[in-house]
Amino acid sequence: MRKILSLLITCIVLFSFSPAFGATSRLFTAKEIKKNNEAIYEVGFRLLNANKIDKRMTFSYSTKDSVNASTSLINRNIVIYDGLIQYMSSEDELAAVLAHEISHAVDSYNGIFRGALEFVPHIFIPRKYERKADLRAVDYMVNAGYNPVALIVIMNKAFPQYRYEVLGTHPLTSRRMAMIYEYIYTKYPAFLVHNPYQNDVYYQNFLLNSEHNRKKLADKVRTGSKKKIRYDY
Ligand SMILES: [Zn+2]
Repeated sequence: MRKILSLLITCIVLFSFSPAFGATSRLFTAKEIKKNNEAIYEVGFRLLNANKIDKRMTFSYSTKDSVNASTSLINRNIVIYDGLIQYMSSEDELAAVLAHEISHAVDSYNGIFRGALEFVPHIFIPRKYERKADLRAVDYMVNAGYNPVALIVIMNKAFPQYRYEVLGTHPLTSRRMAMIYEYIYTKYPAFLVHNPYQNDVYYQNFLLNSEHNRKKLADKVRTGSKKKIRYDY
């Protein structure tokens, strides 16, 4: 009995000390990310290597206080602005932003003339590329051992909420988060079961403001519908 009990305790201890699902060793603390540009480069290259992305791109930091990140489709340089860095609480959140931008840089290689015309569809159907980058970012993060829920967390914390997306380059943030949530729910559900963000204030706020959209997902799951959900504002 004592043996069983001690085995049980060992199991519980092992379980409770085992890293969060899919976790990898983190290189940088939030403080270091805010002070150390190298965090951007290292996490960026870590994502490239883990995903076996054989296209070249570089990463840089800008002191601008814009809450943004961008990718040059011309020279494949990804820039993270200080305004967005200041919102980051973990390496996973940095990886989330970088993974999204990496998707744009990967797409910049598509097509003729070494991708020289790829800016055209990016201009005319930008939201399609943004949706693709959001979902691909989830895959890139998981493959590199990061928690993809961090993508929702950084978006809810830092990205504004416009009224309409008709003329915007990005889908509404509420829709982006709902689509990412559905993708994680469908493809990597374990991250929502063993979710270290459960008590995170920004994630809790997402649960609050996405209730109507998550209900749509619950209905889809319950009915087994294959129809694409049109998420609300
Ligand atoms: Zn983008």
